[in-house]
Formats: sequence, C-alpha cells, structure tokens
Amino acid sequence: MTQVGNEPIPKTQRAAVSDDPSGFKIKEIPVVQPDQLEPGRALVKVLYSGVCHTDLHVIKNEWPVHPERPCIAGHEGSGIIVAINDATSQFKVGDRVGIKWIATSCNECDFCLAGNEPLCLQAKCSGINAQGSFMQYCPAYTSQLTRIPDGLDMAEAAPILCAGVTVWKALKNSKARAGQYVCIPGAGGGLGSLALQYARYMGISTIAIDSGAEKKALCEKYGASAFIDFKEVTDIVSAVKAATPDGLGPQAAIITSPKPEAYLIAMEYIRPGGTVVAVGLPPAGAYVKADVFFTVLHNKNLVSSYVGNRLDANEALDIVAKGHVTCPIVVEPFDSLDSFYTRMAQGTLAGRGVIDLWNKRLGFRKKRNGKIRSEGGP
Ligand SMILES: [Zn+2]
Ligand SMILES: [Zn+2]
Repeated sequence: MTQVGNEPIPKTQRAAVSDDPSGFKIKEIPVVQPDQLEPGRALVKVLYSGVCHTDLHVIKNEWPVHPERPCIAGHEGSGIIVAINDATSQFKVGDRVGIKWIATSCNECDFCLAGNEPLCLQAKCSGINAQGSFMQYCPAYTSQLTRIPDGLDMAEAAPILCAGVTVWKALKNSKARAGQYVCIPGAGGGLGSLALQYARYMGISTIAIDSGAEKKALCEKYGASAFIDFKEVTDIVSAVKAATPDGLGPQAAIITSPKPEAYLIAMEYIRPGGTVVAVGLPPAGAYVKADVFFTVLHNKNLVSSYVGNRLDANEALDIVAKGHVTCPIVVEPFDSLDSFYTRMAQGTLAGRGVIDLWNKRLGFRKKRNGKIRSEGGP
C-alpha cells in the first residue's frame, strides 16, 4: 500500500536530462505518480542537490563505466518523502532524507552483510543506473536513503552526502588516530577543507598542502598544524616530514587528486608503517606509482576508500549537525547547474555548489552564530 502525503503531486517536473555525452538539458518530464511507485521506492521531493564533479565525468562518458540514458545525475540530494511504497521501511511520508551515490544495494550478499554496500555487485548508483537528484521528484530506492538529522540545514546537508562521507570514510580507512598526523594535499579545496575538519574532530593533527594566502588562511581556520605552499616549497617531501614532531612524517595521507605525482611523493613522505589513502574517481587513464623497494622495506600501505556505507553517511551528517564541521556552500537556482560546472573547471567557485530546485532559498540568507546560514528551507 502506497502511503501518500497531503501535498498535491504535479504531473510534470523539471529535471536535468542527459540524452548523449555532449551534456544535459533542463527539461519538463513526467513525475512518477504515487500509484506508479515500484515496491521499495519513495518519491522524494528534492529541495537541494550538491554539485559534484563526478556527475560531469559520468555525463561525458569520461569514466570506464557509462551511464544508462536518458541519464539524470546528482548524488548529493536532500529532500522530503512525499509518497512511499514500502511497508517494511523505517521511513515514512514527511521524513527528511538524503539521496547519495549508492542508490540501492541487495543487502544480502557478503559485502552488504559486512556493511560494505558500495562493493555490492547489485548496487546501483545515482546517475549511472538509477535516477539521481537533479530532478524535483526522484523515485528513490528506500534501501539506501539517508536520514537527515533534525535541525541540520537541508542545503548544508547536501554536499555531506558525497564529499563529507567520502573524506570521513577515508580518514577512518587511514587508521590514523588521535594524537597522530595526516597529510592532506589540496587541503584548501572542497574535499580537503572537509577532511581537515573531520580530522580535527577525530583529534588528528593535519598537514595541509595547497597554495596561496587565501587557502593558507582557510586551512589554518580549520586547524591545520602546518601549511606547505607547493608553489613556494621545492622539496615537499622534506617539508611534510619536518612538520611532524620527530621528523619521520605523518601516519597517513588522504589523496583526492588524480595526479600520479601526488601518490608518488605521498609514498615517500608518510612514515614507515604509514598509509596512503586513494580517494576520488578521476577520468580513465590515471595511474598510481610507487617505489616497490621502499614500499616493502618501510612497510608502507596504499589503500583505497570508495564513498561509504549507510552508517558512515549517518555519522558524517551527525558530526556536521553538531557543529564540528561546516561546509561552505554557494546556493543558486537549478538553471545555474551548467555554470557551476564551468566555475568548478575554472577553479573560481569558493565553496561547494548547491542547486536550489525550487528557488525557495534565494534572498533568505543571514548571519547566525558567526557563519552564513540560510533560513526559509525546511
Ligand atoms: Zn560525488
Ligand atoms: Zn549486496
């Protein structure tokens, strides 16, 4: 039996649809009506969606895996359930939920049973083989919906569903613990600035690598114990090692960049027994390089971290809701989607781009608790 809320559900909606690898168009498409909802699905009225570069790689066929078309990308969606066809689900109409990269998984295979749903062979991903959050009404699978904590701003929650979860999980996979050091190349960027804050929350000291006075100030604000400007420092390996108390280097490094040099030097500057964590999914053709002799002799580890599971998502959001991590966001109307990608490519976007699918937020910004937040959203 489908549960339906009181709010009327329109017949059509706006969605960013990609019919071919040239890009996408925002157009009017039908809304899946409550009586058409497949079992195990909820109709989510999407309020906000973070804009992650991954979506563009998918749309443009830059990955080894190509999307099913017409494709609707978006995997940082926050919204409200307006109808649900799943009697066994913990979710109900009116719940605040997130749509993330992993859209559904079987929940029965070895991987799912061990809480490693991203490895499930039946998993579907938003924008690849499941519809994502660049639409006003998403017929989402209930199995991988994320509950958004009460009181957490829905626009601020959106980027945490991918960017936040990814770095939170990567820090957990780094095995670094309180009192130790982690190096974060690109620390002044979107993922990097979140990684700095989650690390600080874990009691881990951070060594930031980035460039320029603005990035330096940002990294220091988020607690970096050292800032290494890669445009000024020629020997980055020595500088990173020198930033740890005994000069032996950090216990771990979180690498969000696809550049081979980032891995090569990280394998050099981490201390013996340390761990380099590969994060992020670049276009096809990026390779990791490391010196085998010293990797073995110094027992260095190279591991990967791929998004996170449902618990990781809950934790990442909870930490933000409690105010330990903030995500600088730039909220703009749906029609800004293309422009967000342009600014991301140019490196001129200061913060994480978030689209407002209903244009409700605009004009509702004010300063509260010393930081810019928004009002007017649910
Ligand atoms: Zn993403
Ligand atoms: Zn599974």
